[in-house]
Amino acid sequence: MNMTIESYKEHFAPQRADVKGGKYISVFIIRKTESECIFRTDKEISNEITLAGKTRRDLDTQFARVYISKRKQVAPERRSGREILRKFGLLNKNEDGSPCEINSKKMCGKCADCCLYGSAIGDEGALKSHVVSDESFSMLPYDVVTTEHTFNAIYDTGTMIDASGKQSQALGTDEVVRPGEFFLDIETITDVTMDEFIYVLANITRTRRYGAMSSRLGKMSNLVIGIAFSNCELFANLEWTQETYDEICHELKVADDTVPDFPLDPDVVKRCAENVMRRKVGTMNGEVLLLDAKETAQIIDQVSDIYRDEKKLKTVLSRLA
Ligand SMILES: [Zn+2]
Repeated sequence: MNMTIESYKEHFAPQRADVKGGKYISVFIIRKTESECIFRTDKEISNEITLAGKTRRDLDTQFARVYISKRKQVAPERRSGREILRKFGLLNKNEDGSPCEINSKKMCGKCADCCLYGSAIGDEGALKSHVVSDESFSMLPYDVVTTEHTFNAIYDTGTMIDASGKQSQALGTDEVVRPGEFFLDIETITDVTMDEFIYVLANITRTRRYGAMSSRLGKMSNLVIGIAFSNCELFANLEWTQETYDEICHELKVADDTVPDFPLDPDVVKRCAENVMRRKVGTMNGEVLLLDAKETAQIIDQVSDIYRDEKKLKTVLSRLA
């Protein structure tokens, strides 16, 4: 049977809601670096000591993982959504006529973006986010998935010569995350209407760049492997990552006290992350409806169809605004 988003109507808020209605939608994402990427807080790539797995203790207490902060994951997705809203003229203007701008005092607090992802306009009137996530961690250790790279500044011309013919002098070494590493992330979307869900899901599947960006830096892909409707929050990204790590080591028969070789096979990561997701969802104390792989794919396809059809898209986005 062909399942559509409409089949899950009861799990959406009937209208835009500011109050908590206890309707949670979890989107399970495998993020993969497709080029060198830079996620940093200070000078170095953000990293944190974690335990290797739920059961495995490889590298003992020296197992550091690269992490991507919540903001670094959600902000580019917001921007993807805003681009589309702007294209259809659906981003509000403030009372003084200035446009609604992200991360500034000029957030309107009224457009779909402000309402869904939150806005901080003074203390009063700040809107809470309906999209909740936490930091996501690399599958393999920091030392394995990062490398040093020397960069020449590349200009818009795509060369090292700027528009006035000047040679680029900027030469620097940067620590980067290598292409081919995986980060597991659960985005929890609370109390949203069907249209709002379509918008947030499309922002996840359409966003291609995260972290520091240049023409060759920051490319990532997002693979949605599951969607769950529930009346409670599910589990943390780190837990999912660590148990998947155990599962991967088990499948690849990795000896104790060693770590799997980089890069991991995407099929192995997907299979293991899926197994762990299903197993963990099964142990939750609460009502959870986890869609199977086929149902999840049907939802993703339906959203892509809407975004390919300007008329359909305009209808959905206009209802949002
Ligand atoms: Zn706004």
